[in-house]
Amino acid sequence: MTFQRVGVIGAGQMGAGIAQVFAAAGVPVRLYDAAETALARGLSGIKASLEKLASKGKLTADQASAAHGRIEPAARLASLKDCDLVVEAVVENLEVKKKIFAELDAVLPPHAILASNTSSISITVLAASTKRPDRFIGMHFMNPVPLMQLVEVIRGLATSDDTYAKVKAAAEQVGKTPIVANDFPGFVSNRILMPMINEAITCVMEGVATPEAIDGIMKLGMNHPMGPLALADLIGLDTCLAIMEVLHRDLGDSKYRPSPLLRKMVAAGHLGRKSGKGFYPYGA
Ligand code: NAD
Repeated sequence: MTFQRVGVIGAGQMGAGIAQVFAAAGVPVRLYDAAETALARGLSGIKASLEKLASKGKLTADQASAAHGRIEPAARLASLKDCDLVVEAVVENLEVKKKIFAELDAVLPPHAILASNTSSISITVLAASTKRPDRFIGMHFMNPVPLMQLVEVIRGLATSDDTYAKVKAAAEQVGKTPIVANDFPGFVSNRILMPMINEAITCVMEGVATPEAIDGIMKLGMNHPMGPLALADLIGLDTCLAIMEVLHRDLGDSKYRPSPLLRKMVAAGHLGRKSGKGFYPYGA
């Protein structure tokens, strides 16, 4: 593996998945979250996910338990100081991410590479909060990380060829297919996906059809594996709104205006699967 030890920041659905795939590929991982409960939930989710993969015969029980054993919870951000790649996967908020990268930059060794799993925020802007913009890159894993093949790799304005080559190799070594995109709001994946989800939400708001009918039409008619509203619930409506706000603000085009119903649902705390209710109800 290109990297000896990988740090992951944020133990939510994405950070936990990223930690899992590096650990399953044999790499020691340090996992940090600002919330102790989130860290504990992330670790137990990883254990359950590895056990499920073992029960399906994708891993042996020994491989699953060894992978889990490679993930060390970190009590402080500074505990990641001996990592040579750190992947950040905290909330989709520019100021929160910038603060984390500035702190990490100060404790990591000079050769270490910083990567963000951001869905939409400028990699060049995040890189500018550090003194190593050449060793900064976007590593955009898809949800659920252990199952999805793609890593969208985003080069910031200053990302070096060496950083890109190392991160591309690491993505391949964890069994993923990296595809490169340049640094524009939402990159490729969310520039195209999120306006479709936003439009599906506006269709619910305008009474064009029920959520079940909208998802059914998109699944059967367009051959999508999941309807846009079920996908929005999986991604998290708070994350969808944050992405639409980046597209709207940074591209300056009214076609990216977040749907008022999306804003209302986020304000009500209906965030999708993670809160137990979105366009569909979910168990506790
Ligand atoms: P999530 O809400 O499941 O998890 C976010 C985690 O970040 C939480 O556990 C929270 O406690 C932690 N956190 C918040 N502030 C922190 C801080 N200052 N320091 C350390 N930890 C902190 O969110 P998610 O869905 O895992 O998304 C994380 C990132 O991945 C976002 O940037 C999102 O845009 C991106 N992303 C999400 C998806 C998706 O489908 N949800 C897909 C690709 C990329």
